[in-house]
Amino acid sequence: MAMETILRIVKESGLLELDQAGLDAFKARGAQRIAAADACIYRQSLHATDGVLYFIGSAAGEKGLCLVSTKALPSGMEGASARIGGISILKASLSPLSAKRLREVFPFTAPVSLRERTTTIGCGDRLGLATPGHVRAAARYEVAPVLAQQSIRELTLTGRDFPGVVADATFLVFQEGYELGYGADGDHLKTIADIDTALAAGMPMITLDLSDVMSAEPAFWSTGKVDEEFARLGADVQEHVLEAYADKTFRAGGSSVRLSALEAKRCALMYLRALDFSREVDAHIRARRGDSYDLEISIDETTAPTLPEHHLFIAKELGIRGVMVSSLAPRFVGEFQKGIDYIGKVDEFERQFAIHCDIAKASGGYKISIHSGSDKFSVYPAIGRHTGMRLHLKTAGTSWLQAVLVIARADPALFRRMLTKAKASFEEATKLYHITADPANVPDESGLSDAELPRLLSARDSRQLLHITYGGLLNDPGIRAEIFQTLSANEDLHYAAVEEHIEKHIRLLGAARRA
Ligand code: ZN
Repeated sequence: MAMETILRIVKESGLLELDQAGLDAFKARGAQRIAAADACIYRQSLHATDGVLYFIGSAAGEKGLCLVSTKALPSGMEGASARIGGISILKASLSPLSAKRLREVFPFTAPVSLRERTTTIGCGDRLGLATPGHVRAAARYEVAPVLAQQSIRELTLTGRDFPGVVADATFLVFQEGYELGYGADGDHLKTIADIDTALAAGMPMITLDLSDVMSAEPAFWSTGKVDEEFARLGADVQEHVLEAYADKTFRAGGSSVRLSALEAKRCALMYLRALDFSREVDAHIRARRGDSYDLEISIDETTAPTLPEHHLFIAKELGIRGVMVSSLAPRFVGEFQKGIDYIGKVDEFERQFAIHCDIAKASGGYKISIHSGSDKFSVYPAIGRHTGMRLHLKTAGTSWLQAVLVIARADPALFRRMLTKAKASFEEATKLYHITADPANVPDESGLSDAELPRLLSARDSRQLLHITYGGLLNDPGIRAEIFQTLSANEDLHYAAVEEHIEKHIRLLGAARRA
């Protein structure tokens, strides 16, 4: 029986006799997994406290959080238990309930605010399997990872929820013995109700998406229309906007930004309602978490690039409202499409990006956040340089694509089925994601040998096709189960593929190696 095999490994390795220092010495040598027959223990997960040994174990292909002791085991977790030869063992299910208990016993497994950390990288993990790759890359550099990061859109498409997302990160952080701290981001949230769901799941970072409460239209209005609408605002608001911004030049670091009276009025019409909502959200989060939270303000999902004048107006008004901004995501010039490099003129991007950085530095020093930030290798050097590495880089789908790459290599038949399904799901997916891929440019897989399949993850059209159709793929019960089975059977390859790709991101941004 599998529980007995796990206990045999514990006894033969003498693990019950070791305190935490002894376990740490044991962890420093030997393979990642200590295996026997159909069971194994994840070596880096070994922890002891109050006479109880905790670790991630796997038996008969199923992982669990294992507790072993000669004493009675603490209560509060559900799972299979046994007492064999005077030793108690519990193999708890990897549920949100077990995760909550584990975070109480080992606080390093709980997400924390990363406001004081200079460089942070959002590592969205659509499958809840990629954390080991993420932390192995991050641990080598002066960066802090946000490991649990999902938008409502991703939750819907993957069939997950915030407690499950945080639980997956909790267990994998424990499995890796990663004690350097990580974040959890309720991404692109628009309502207090959704924010509450993320906060209840223990997520310290909230990305507030203002696209529904701001108004993009005034950007295109005539002078007459702007004047007319501005005149409808309260007299005190009009007075403040004109006095503070109209025909004024602001110095921010090496940049100077000038707002005309017309642009100041436009900004008021576009953003004031959203700024008031930001204050409401900030107060709401503070009431629940005290000072330990990271509020990101996101204005990237709009139709036009964020002008430096508008960024300056927003920064000043957030300051007036006392909003504690950790990071702000403008929409940059050019195109930040999912999963591929930057599209646009790099020198023009750099010129405008430098001004955005100057404004952030002069406005309390919040981080500039780069959304759809994966794979933008051609602009990373400029991003690293102008931010001085004070930045948040948000990635998600690129780790999913590494998982798909592993499947293309390890199980070509499954990959071919995924490709067929992805093509069938493409049109639906383009309603949610803006990309320029054309499925007609994806070669027919029947004409490709197995060895040629992984190349589809490098070609732009097929890469974007597989990036955005994860919802269709994961909603197919057969394909979903096989994706998880294949990645579980190729766990080391999966972790290594994610680690290599995220490490490339961190290195090209110019992050310093950890001493
Ligand atoms: Zn975004």
